[in-house]
Amino acid sequence: MELNGHRRLVLLGATGSIGRSAIDIVAQAPDRFSIEAVAGGSDVEGLARVAREVGAKFAAIRDESRYADLKQALSGSGVTAAAGPDAVVEAALRPADIVVGAVSGAAGVAPTYAALQAGRTIALANKECLVCAGTPFMRKATEMKATILPLDSEHDAIWQALGGAAPGEVEKMVITASGGPFRTWSAEAIAAARPDQALKHPNWSMGRKITIDSASMMNKGLELIEAHHLFGVPADRFDVLVHPQSIVHGLVHFSDGSVVASLYAPDMRVPIAHCLGYPDRLRTNARRLDLAALGSLTFEAPDIARFPALGLAMDALRAGGGLPTVLNAANEVAVEAFLEGRAAFGEIPKIVGFACEKAVRDGLAREPATIEDALAVDHIARQMSAAYWR
Ligand code: NAD
Ligand code: MG
Repeated sequence: MELNGHRRLVLLGATGSIGRSAIDIVAQAPDRFSIEAVAGGSDVEGLARVAREVGAKFAAIRDESRYADLKQALSGSGVTAAAGPDAVVEAALRPADIVVGAVSGAAGVAPTYAALQAGRTIALANKECLVCAGTPFMRKATEMKATILPLDSEHDAIWQALGGAAPGEVEKMVITASGGPFRTWSAEAIAAARPDQALKHPNWSMGRKITIDSASMMNKGLELIEAHHLFGVPADRFDVLVHPQSIVHGLVHFSDGSVVASLYAPDMRVPIAHCLGYPDRLRTNARRLDLAALGSLTFEAPDIARFPALGLAMDALRAGGGLPTVLNAANEVAVEAFLEGRAAFGEIPKIVGFACEKAVRDGLAREPATIEDALAVDHIARQMSAAYWR
């Protein structure tokens, strides 16, 4: 990756929580960055506002039916409007030094992979990309000598703690979890939790899907699978530690008994700034850490009996093959059903378990060799998950 000078960015998922935080970082270093293109799902007004604000040349909305609205919203701005899945891919392929992958869900696979295929450096927030299609994704990165910068806070923290150590020097990698809003709740109360309760995260303000995943702790399971692909470390060398203050984000245990941890205030602008500025440190107004004011940091083991989604993801990581792809797709179906009132919170792991068991029975559990394979398994897994209601 070209390390110095002015950087052109593409933001995939520009209207979301990560997208807006990235724009905030860019606005604090206007001489270092420009934004070539922005893409979003269906929020036309939000996308047009962002495109104008950052002076993008190209704006793509995934929802094809919104083309006229986007064109109208951008009239007189000089920003080219485009719509549909191919337009999002076109945005991903605009000339850029870094593509920020911040679409939510497996919807991010196709455009992020397109950028990777073009050899772009990717700052990757969209963990579902690696859970759905980790092997073909990482293989393509190696083939294209493309850099993937881990933007998810735990992965950014491990990257910082690793400090270039050789793989043989690492005994264990640990990612932390806040435990979410239901950390102290009983299994019965968790199973009956309402969307408004699950959407109230104690430490982070994020998009709806990842907020529900944090409440079920599926998010931590997806992150273990993400870490396995990013760092090439086997499943048995990862641990999850519940840490309600969300200050320590990741730790690396080394072969000499040393442990290096990365700490920062729970503000995604910190890992975003680290990725966008790397190897330089940008000067930002991201939240500062005051340990004396905090007084103490606490840690506890995760409770898989109360958070079965984490256990399912750990099983899928150990089993490998196509199971993480199925797990991810089924979880997206289940989270949507929960948010729409069609499933109880306690049914999220049941739907995911149902789909994973069916995938093993139907022989869908083999490793997707290509991105097309992974997307085909994703598609079938969504249909299989829907059979839960029949
Ligand atoms: P969000 O829901 O706030 O934003 C999602 C963005 O993706 C929006 O801009 C939306 O318009 C866009 N989008 C949705 N479907 C699309 C499609 N088919 N094509 C193009 N764009 C589409 O979500 P978020 O919280 O910003 O999270 C984004 C990703 O980053 C997720 O994978 C999440 O797990 C990961 N992540 C988020 C945080 C966080 O603090 N928010 C932290 C770590 C990782
Ligand atoms: Mg994270």
